[in-house]
Amino acid sequence: MSSWKENVRSVEPYTPGEQPQRKDIIKLNTNENPYPPSPAVEEALRAFDVGRLRKYPTPDAAELVSALSEVYGLPKEQIYVGVGSDDVLAMSFLTFFNSKKPILFPDVTYSFYDVWADLFKIPYERLPLASDWSVLPGDYLRENGGVVIPNPNAPTGKLLPLSDIEKIVAGNPASVVIIDEAYIDFGGESALPLLSKYENLLVVRTMSKSRSLAGSRIGFAFGNPDLIKYLWDVRNSFNSYTMDSVTQAVGAASLRDRAYFEDTCSRIMKTRERFSAEMKALGFTFPESAANFIFASHPEIDAAKLFSDLKEAGIFVRYFPGPRTGQSLRITIGTDEEMDRLIAFLKEYLKK
Ligand SMILES: *Cc1c(COP(=O)(O)O)cnc(C)c1O
Repeated sequence: MSSWKENVRSVEPYTPGEQPQRKDIIKLNTNENPYPPSPAVEEALRAFDVGRLRKYPTPDAAELVSALSEVYGLPKEQIYVGVGSDDVLAMSFLTFFNSKKPILFPDVTYSFYDVWADLFKIPYERLPLASDWSVLPGDYLRENGGVVIPNPNAPTGKLLPLSDIEKIVAGNPASVVIIDEAYIDFGGESALPLLSKYENLLVVRTMSKSRSLAGSRIGFAFGNPDLIKYLWDVRNSFNSYTMDSVTQAVGAASLRDRAYFEDTCSRIMKTRERFSAEMKALGFTFPESAANFIFASHPEIDAAKLFSDLKEAGIFVRYFPGPRTGQSLRITIGTDEEMDRLIAFLKEYLKK
């Protein structure tokens, strides 16, 4: 007997980190920013004319694109926006990864990439990181249908130098290379300067982490005008007007408050350095992080057990089971006070 189920697009969805509703916890599990969004965001919301909601938003998210153009110094034709960078990345996979050859990404990386590849039936190959968690740029020079790499990588936090990114982009003129810079604002060197040299580069960003706007869902991408136009064409064949007027006002306000943005990013980097030193002193090992999290393991502690013991103590971190990642925990950098409480817990824990 044939069944309607034979015609279903059946997929294994991405599992996001938990969003517990309890208020008394320390939440270090989804790389959110511990500081509130810029005060300019609250002002923009208060000033927002509700009457505007009667109409569709500006076509192609013009309000937000203008602010991005102003702040990043790139023409509007080189800018694309979406509902979080997950939306930008999904549209980019759909637009640029249409080859029968496999797309390439690291074996330990953002766990949404293989979900989109499966959803869109894109063949893919996961290329193993080196034992120190480095992306090996030479591996990405084989034949492929596209490349996607986060820089810094997630969940390792490890940064690939710009010269290595350039090797990958320059070595793949027949593929689109997507650099997912979700965490670049925490001290990494961006690939944006390569845009003037390479047509096949797409740089993807988000306001969820460094701008404290995970709840607003704002992602964006920079590329050459041709590339960007293909993205808009696919977007507008799928669902136009996805970037609503309120969110555009929020995003634009955040972008224009550069001082607040720089201040909160540098606070997080300072906390990261201090927390990293204390974790090392406790015997944890991890790659040096250029992100707002570290990926730490301890020779005497079982990561899965620590994960659940922490949770029981009201401290949420992220655990990725599996042979490559199962001995580490990804810990978001919160406020100094939150990290102090985590360190105090770990000191006691290690005594037992
Ligand atoms: C968080 C994250 C994203 C998605 O962020 P959005 O909230 O959808 O903008 C994309 N890529 C990586 C590597 C991330 O860690």
